[in-house]
This record gives sequence, structure tokens and C-alpha cells, in this order.
Amino acid sequence: MTTDAVSGPARLPILMYHGLHVDADSRGRFDPVYSVEPDRFARQLDWIQAQGLRSMLLDEAMQQRGDRAVVISFDDGDVSNVEVALPQLLERGMKAEFFITTGFIGATGMLSADEVRELAAAGMGIGSHGCSHAFLEDLDTTALMSELDDSRCRLQALSRRPVEAIALPGGRGGERELRAAQSLGYQHLLGSVPGPNLRARGDCCLQRLAITRNLGMDDFAALVRWQGLSPRLLQARHAALSLPKRVLGNKGYERLRERLL
Ligand SMILES: [Zn+2]
Repeated sequence: MTTDAVSGPARLPILMYHGLHVDADSRGRFDPVYSVEPDRFARQLDWIQAQGLRSMLLDEAMQQRGDRAVVISFDDGDVSNVEVALPQLLERGMKAEFFITTGFIGATGMLSADEVRELAAAGMGIGSHGCSHAFLEDLDTTALMSELDDSRCRLQALSRRPVEAIALPGGRGGERELRAAQSLGYQHLLGSVPGPNLRARGDCCLQRLAITRNLGMDDFAALVRWQGLSPRLLQARHAALSLPKRVLGNKGYERLRERLL
């Protein structure tokens, strides 16, 4: 039963987590949609292992493109990344990519500089998630370039490794952001459009699967396998959320989301 969990040509599930929190009193920045319970995260890792899948860093996964690869990623740099996720990953010999917003480093509930170093020293991937978490498509060229370059330089200094991947804040960005990032040396851009990366190329953002608080185990499995109804529901939700973004603009959309939550 476990041999063809993620079969087919060059499929690459990239999971997108944020913080891991029991509830709003947990350390870190709780989000009612994106904070996944630590126990549930542990069960998801166990399921990945039971399927014979291997969590890889992005570079390795992009080169191998086998049917065993899965990439686990975290956005923003919540303190639970090091306090909860890291021990769970190390216990199982698994790896993950951490996309860190450099302006959040040292802020309440977020990773410190030492903790970013700790993730890198433990063999985890370190990528950029901008300096300020501004949506890159809202910025003029000068501001765009400094978000891309300053965050990269800071993270390279902390991790003592090249930083070659960026997860777009809010998943938002297009052609201009891709070209700007590539001109600075980024190899991989990750968005938040849901998909299995069947045709991952250098000229578009990698798709990711948002792992949300209410996602049950069956739906998690269906997403990673890209089978059944869950992938369609995720795509439909993403499309539905994209419409108010286009109509209201990024700022208006954020205000609407805050009010709804
Ligand atoms: Zn983010």
C-alpha cells in the first residue's frame, strides 16, 4: 500500500507551514488558520515516513525529482520553528526549509539570530521571506531590490551558506519579481498557488500546499498524493481568495481578512 503514494512523473509536493501552536497561549504568533497543533504536525511527519517518502531540501528535491521526494517548508520565522518543529524533524531524521522574514528576527514570538544559526547548523534549509513581509508586487523597483537583496545577505551571514530560495510574502508576485530575484542569484521562487509542481520550470513560481489548522489526516494525505477532492477544494479556495485580492488590492484584502477572522 505504501509503494505508490506519490507516483507519476516529476511530482513534487511542497508543504507550507507557518507556526506550530496548541492555542493562542502558546509561545509564538498564533494564527487561527495557519497555526497547526504540534501533535497533528507529528502525525503528519509520521505519515510521510510511513509512506516511504523522503523529506528533502529544495535543491536536492529539484535535482532528483523522484516520486519519493517531499519538501517541508515553514514561512515567517515563528519561534515554534525551532522549539517545536526542529526537534520533531531531527528525531525522525527529516529536513525542512525555513523561509525567514529578516525584519522579524528577534521580535516577540519570532526566531532570534542565534536560533536561525541553530536551524542552519542542524542541516535545515534557510531561505528568504523578505525583510518586512511587504507584498513585493506593491513595491517600486528600489524597494523590491532591497527586500530581496538585504534579506538574502543577512540570512547568508547567519547561516554561512548561499541563500538561493525565496518564498514570496503573501504568495504574491509575478514576472517582475521573478526576474528581479533571479538577477540577484535566487534559484527558486515559491508562491502559494496550490499544486503538485508537475511542470516545475525556472520561469514560474513553485506551487505549495498550505497546511492549515483544520486539515484532517485524510485530507492531508490526499493533498500530498494530489488525489481525490481535497486538491480541488484547495484550488477552489485559493481562486476564491484571489478574487477579492484583485478587486480590493493587497491592503484592502488584508483588512477584509482581519475582519473576517
Ligand atoms: Zn508569510
